[in-house]
Amino acid sequence: MQAKNLKNRIPERIGSWQNGRWVTPAAGAQDLPVINPASEAVICLLAEDDSASVDSAVAIAKATFQSGIWSRAAVSERKGVLLKIRDLVVEQAEELAQLEILSTGIPISQARRRHLPRAAMNFEFFAEFISQTADRLYDQNPDYLTLVRHEPVGVAGLIAPWNAPLALATMKLAGAIAFGNSCVLKPSEMTPLPFVRLMEILKIAGVPDGVVNLVNGRGPVTGQALVANADVDIIAFTGGTATGRAIGELAGRGLKRVVTELGGKSANIVCADADIERAVESAVLAGFGNNGQQCLAGTRLLLQRSIAAEFLDLFLTRVRSLRIGLPSDATTEIGPLISSAQLERIQSFGNDARNDGVEILAGGKPADLKPGYFFEPTVVHAQSNSQRVCCEEIFGPFVTVLEFDDFDEALSIANDSEYGLVAYVWTNNLGQAMKAADELRTGVVWINTPVYRELRAPFGGFKHSGVGRDGGDWSRSLFTESKTISIPRQDFPLAQLADSK
Ligand code: NDP
Repeated sequence: MQAKNLKNRIPERIGSWQNGRWVTPAAGAQDLPVINPASEAVICLLAEDDSASVDSAVAIAKATFQSGIWSRAAVSERKGVLLKIRDLVVEQAEELAQLEILSTGIPISQARRRHLPRAAMNFEFFAEFISQTADRLYDQNPDYLTLVRHEPVGVAGLIAPWNAPLALATMKLAGAIAFGNSCVLKPSEMTPLPFVRLMEILKIAGVPDGVVNLVNGRGPVTGQALVANADVDIIAFTGGTATGRAIGELAGRGLKRVVTELGGKSANIVCADADIERAVESAVLAGFGNNGQQCLAGTRLLLQRSIAAEFLDLFLTRVRSLRIGLPSDATTEIGPLISSAQLERIQSFGNDARNDGVEILAGGKPADLKPGYFFEPTVVHAQSNSQRVCCEEIFGPFVTVLEFDDFDEALSIANDSEYGLVAYVWTNNLGQAMKAADELRTGVVWINTPVYRELRAPFGGFKHSGVGRDGGDWSRSLFTESKTISIPRQDFPLAQLADSK
């Protein structure tokens, strides 16, 4: 799609989507600029939804849920609509990818290869899942049949981050509506663009008006109003750990069901017996994919000392050759960071590292490219896992190297973190691989592979990386209430309160 045509598809001012149409923002709604991080130019304005606007979206979602138009629709009908959404996302993938990269700075090749296929897959997966999942029947008691049904909960508040807007938001959205819920989605205020198109796709695909509503604005304003609304039954949140804690507290007061998928500081352990070339390329993907702005980034690269020099030689050659450039260029491997605030934050890690005696092996400063929030792909060598670059989530193209002598030491360094989202292990020793699978305190362990997401399996974190999981049965638990129904198999004598004889 040509940039000129794309421009015609972006409204000058984005409002909220309620009951199947765009709503004119209230007089006095605050306008926020949506910035292109590659040019620092304003793309359009976003009218922030205040609590009155959020309450209206929730009321619509609740009324739609209660009407039964979607919550009681046949599974085959919901499946058909979800598959139609999948088809439309595939058909319009190029436009959606262009909209996504405009405000995120993600390189177009990664949006095309990873983000859009994943968004389409989210709808396909839940379409198939609901048509294949059966409920349980207990017939062990000869007098009773007891069956368990899963019913939609009600209204889900879905809060998504900016780093992979479509892929992450559609995982929640597809799960919520597949099981019959209505929802109100709040993306990051920095990345609203692809959702403008997505709402229209949902309507064309046949999602009844009012089932999916979209509100826009900053977390502490719009997001908080959504979490605080008493008619929201579930909060599904992906974002930072500090925000997750605040949301958990507020949602807890309302006794809402909450799942939080939060930050990480994941270890990528490379043992001396690993396939070094594969491990090098995967370390590049894990550290610098999505401009390094990914929760599952392998940011602590733990190298066995005997191969550290050889590994670093290959790794640094590859890192120094990464092509930094405009997200729209198909050959770009590293685009700009999301915002000037993020650029400053990451720069502070570079500066602190220097002051802390950490050796900078590559990068460590903003890239020589202006305008735009570009930062050089950075690799630093730390001395101890307690240094700041090893403890805090940096969320940029920034990998910290540590060395270890034996495998137990590597596992102990990997586990020495407040986070526990994922871990990568590279070894050809089956015993070591199994030990890692047993002992790593993370929600996912990838052995001899870069990122792989199996949607049937749970995804989520140990420790401060989150509470709860999504994927397959875990999404079903989140988005449904289970109900137990017992029926006598025949008329047997009823128990009496007292013996009447
Ligand atoms: P934030 O926590 O800043 O924001 C996430 C979302 O929550 C945004 O939509 C934000 O709105 C909103 N928000 C912020 N404050 C509140 C509040 N008080 N109440 C309600 N909503 C609020 O995270 P980022 O957007 O910066 O995303 C990066 C973080 O997300 C990283 O820590 C990363 O590790 C994590 N992440 C985790 C994943 C996982 O699966 N575990 C996957 C991807 C990212 P707004 O931005 O508009 O202010």
